[in-house]
Amino acid sequence: MAFNSATLQPFYMKDIQEIFALLSRPTKVVIVMHLKPDADAMGSSLGLFHFLNQLGHSVTVISPTNWADWLKWMKGCEKVIDYELNTEKANSILDNAEWVFCLDFNTLSRTRKMAAKLSDFNGIKILIDHHQQPQSEYFVYGISDTSKSSTSEMVYDFILDSGHAEKINKDIAECLYAGVMTDTGSFRFSSATASVHRMVADLKDRGFDHSKIHENLFDNFLENRLRFTGHVLQSRLDIFYEYNTALIAIPWKELVKYQIKTGDTEGLVNYPLTIQGIKLAALIIDRDEEIKCSFRSKGDFDVNVFARTYFEGGGHSNAAGGRSSDTLEQTVQRFIKAMKENASQLQ
Ligand code: 5GP
Ligand code: MN
Repeated sequence: MAFNSATLQPFYMKDIQEIFALLSRPTKVVIVMHLKPDADAMGSSLGLFHFLNQLGHSVTVISPTNWADWLKWMKGCEKVIDYELNTEKANSILDNAEWVFCLDFNTLSRTRKMAAKLSDFNGIKILIDHHQQPQSEYFVYGISDTSKSSTSEMVYDFILDSGHAEKINKDIAECLYAGVMTDTGSFRFSSATASVHRMVADLKDRGFDHSKIHENLFDNFLENRLRFTGHVLQSRLDIFYEYNTALIAIPWKELVKYQIKTGDTEGLVNYPLTIQGIKLAALIIDRDEEIKCSFRSKGDFDVNVFARTYFEGGGHSNAAGGRSSDTLEQTVQRFIKAMKENASQLQ
């Protein structure tokens, strides 16, 4: 098995550039993103959707689950199929598709109920993703680059490298900007390279209002979400100063009480990192169907490894997630134990 010396990831997929020559033939295409898509998953998928549509392909975007209301302003979002709501329709589209692009996820399990269907898919699977250790054996073509800020940046590169830069219109620019802006923490993380800023400058030249996009994404919530945030920071935040770690654990009944919807807890895990000295922030939420964990870190503490080791998850070195089949209390206890096991790296 060959390894990429930079990332130590095995190579199985053919270079994505090999499909450029095939782009001129109209094809039935499906684009799939990860469950509970964020702005990068939705933005990169819709950016690619608008691009492939212009080339004459017949394109359907499928999300494994529902998505947050604050993504609904994206052009094309109203056409996205929710796999859980429309399984039969989605399966029949997949049965007829020739290509499936998989965007912004590294393992098929990130598509939950779609995973088996994707695994059995007979056509060509193509990966575009920036998470670590992808299941590259599932894909015929693909690109996995953990140095990239976002999948949206990778879709931008894909369009440029395919020789169709002129196809990037305002709709595509808005979708890709939303993805790159949110995945870089509003251009804060080290992943916001000079190339990212050049990309944004180029997108701006194609004419879109970036202030409007920030408003759509960040000033578009209901009162209950702000009250919930206040409650959680007041009553559900524990700080372990000895380990430079903070934990927020939220019971299911509080999500119900505050009428919390998909996407309302996005960003909550970042608040504890604003406390001086905190290196690791964790958010553990009882979502009833499962316990969802989010981890964020500053500096060298690798939450991708942490999530993989203890919580069946993964992601990036400073932002990762996972899950647990235990109760909320048991998961919190497991987290505290894991934190203590990592004391030397946290202190
Ligand atoms: P979030 O905490 O916002 O859900 O996710 C942070 C990062 O970790 C994202 O890049 C997301 O794709 C990844 N991630 C979240 N949950 C999981 C998981 O259960 N498994 C894996 N492999 N990655 C996850
Ligand atoms: Mn992403």
